[in-house]
Amino acid sequence: MSKMKKPSLLRLIIALSLPCISVNAQTKRPESERTLAHDIYKQFVEIQSGFTTGATTPVAEAAAARLRAAGFSESDIFLGGANPKKGNLVVRYHGTGKLKPILLLAHIDVVEAKREDWSMDPFQLIERDGFFYGRGTGDDKAQAAIWIANLIQYKKEGFKPDRDIIVALTADEEGGGPYNGVVWLLKNHRELIESEFALNEGGWGEESKGKRISNDLQVSEKYVVNFRLEVRNKGGHSSMPVADNAIYRLAAALQRLSNFGFPLKTNEVTAAYFQEMAKIETGTVKEDLAKASKGSQEAMQRLAAASPAWNATLRTTCVATLLEGGHAMNALPQLAAATVNCRVLPEDSVDYVQSTLQRVVSDDQVSVKILGEPAPGLASALRPDVLAAVGHVTEALWPGVPVVPIMVMGATDGKALRIAGIPTYGIQGIFFDRDDIRFHGRDERVGVQSFYEGHAFLYELVKALSETAPVTHSGGL
Ligand SMILES: [Zn+2]
Repeated sequence: MSKMKKPSLLRLIIALSLPCISVNAQTKRPESERTLAHDIYKQFVEIQSGFTTGATTPVAEAAAARLRAAGFSESDIFLGGANPKKGNLVVRYHGTGKLKPILLLAHIDVVEAKREDWSMDPFQLIERDGFFYGRGTGDDKAQAAIWIANLIQYKKEGFKPDRDIIVALTADEEGGGPYNGVVWLLKNHRELIESEFALNEGGWGEESKGKRISNDLQVSEKYVVNFRLEVRNKGGHSSMPVADNAIYRLAAALQRLSNFGFPLKTNEVTAAYFQEMAKIETGTVKEDLAKASKGSQEAMQRLAAASPAWNATLRTTCVATLLEGGHAMNALPQLAAATVNCRVLPEDSVDYVQSTLQRVVSDDQVSVKILGEPAPGLASALRPDVLAAVGHVTEALWPGVPVVPIMVMGATDGKALRIAGIPTYGIQGIFFDRDDIRFHGRDERVGVQSFYEGHAFLYELVKALSETAPVTHSGGL
């Protein structure tokens, strides 16, 4: 199947699938359920679980206590982690076993927040002017609280899904490192989270001037590779310069790099993204977005020139970020080096990027070495069942708001799961003003209405995905 036809087939599948899933969606759950979601949210936000100073264990334990009180048996609740402070929670809600489990993931660590940097206490959930304020309100404790609240509700209702529903609340997503909960679980207790696919953070609803623009579904991530470009020569006294100078050689190599751009292209996810964006944007860019989704190089060039974000979506990028060289004011440099930071499309290999850099540098005295051990990313397939369910629940809650598949430039825990063979989709249904995203920043917040709508959206979405047999398809999208 040609790349160009994929997005239209995608829409066809969504359209055909609509009547198959019965969703009786409301934009808000009943008050008693909202109160429970709010109370869990408040409890999670008010436990300090900063990446460096805090602990996730008390959050995991608070969730476990809620689950026990709701009647979950001890054997279905797991608490553990790479270190006593870095606890994770995994809970299983049993289905009929007809389908493989679904994993619902959220991280419970947060980026640090200092009281003096905020206009209020970052570790209190404060409701003000239609927003919930507090560190982690958006990233990622809303989703964590919603997963737990909804699981408790499913149990209350006696809901019998066709697959087990597993919720994992995990440590140390922010910055990763040796205590990362997902990596630790994959290594030590993979059976607990073994699943057909996972839902996670990474995709949210975009709002602009109070209007909902799109409900984003994150399907893939770029990955990072750092290179060191290095020139060494014998040096000497600066009073007798010679033509072969390490700094000049490196500078010339970097100049060639600055004039170079990796090929512009789309993949399954970004073609679908541009196609959806073409419906949202207006003016001349609208046409370029549509053309880019069908592979037009000219349109891609114009988009890349118009926006750094679109440029980064359309190609692998490499940019010099650090520089060092020389050892004395009056000596010819023996060393000149630069760090080049590359953000690589999932379909481009590390070898390809390295050999391309070598070719662009085109000087065999400039070595191009990989720093660290890069872990290439993977895209999750655009699963028709996930797309259909997300599309349908979105349409039921917010008629006319499109679902836009996205590839993001940053990384989430979804990467580790995708590499481990568990396709992962970033989806929240919580809307944020795209010009005022405060994750990791000061006065982080979530709209009160957005929180409760996300609560209702995820309630319906998980039900739709665990109740209905997947849309059958041949050939794959
Ligand atoms: Zn996060």
